[in-house]
Amino acid sequence: VIEVRNIIRDFKLGSETVHVLKGIDLDIKKGDYIAFMGPSGSGKSTLMNLLGCLDTPTAGSYKLNGTDVSSLSDDQLAEIRNTEIGFVFQTFNLLPRTTALDNVALPMIYAGKSKKDRKARAEEVLTSVGLADRMDHQPNQLSGGQRQRVAVGRALVNNPSIILADEPTGNLDSKTGVEIMALFDKIHADGNTVILVTHEEEIAEHAHRVIRLRDGIIETDTRNRPWKP
Ligand code: ATP
Ligand code: MG
Repeated sequence: VIEVRNIIRDFKLGSETVHVLKGIDLDIKKGDYIAFMGPSGSGKSTLMNLLGCLDTPTAGSYKLNGTDVSSLSDDQLAEIRNTEIGFVFQTFNLLPRTTALDNVALPMIYAGKSKKDRKARAEEVLTSVGLADRMDHQPNQLSGGQRQRVAVGRALVNNPSIILADEPTGNLDSKTGVEIMALFDKIHADGNTVILVTHEEEIAEHAHRVIRLRDGIIETDTRNRPWKP
């Protein structure tokens, strides 16, 4: 589903150019379960933002499901973000003063679903992430783990082909982090492609392939479970 060739990402800071990604090649097949690791500042989030079509590369090509996304317009990228990608953030990024149900239903408004369909699907997804009894709660009435479940539900709601999560357990205690990882394991077992970033080896052990970045390049790419499509 993902084919990345020699991706470079530079940032301009005043007169200075910061070279963050220095040539990344990456092939990811449907149903893979990947953990990116590496020191702070090595470029993990920069790469995730590119993979999630939240950003575009300075040079190089990125094919997602056969489409070269590095040449698309902002509108086309927004469409892909909404239909093919589910993104989970470390800080949840939920709308405040908005119920769990409405947070999860939001991406379906952009996808043009009817109100009735949105409610039914949001209820289904919230039930699948274990929040059947929290649908009408707002983020500030939920625990951190529950907030992250809402965010995972929102990422899943339009049936994306890839789930991306940048340190999804980074703001959670270790017990809650394990519960969220059980959820990602289930999402993967359901046939989804899951890509996450973590600093913790125990979290990375859930993945089937661990890719370590250092200084903007891939240092190692190790499969720790046999490939099973
Ligand atoms: P962490 O583990 O701390 O989250 P990371 O591996 O995710 O680190 P990135 O957030 O990808 O690291 O950042 C990599 C480098 O790119 C850093 O040195 C950062 O300062 C720089 N960088 C990221 N975004 C920008 C930007 N918009 N403008 C300038 N520099 C940036
Ligand atoms: Mg980061």
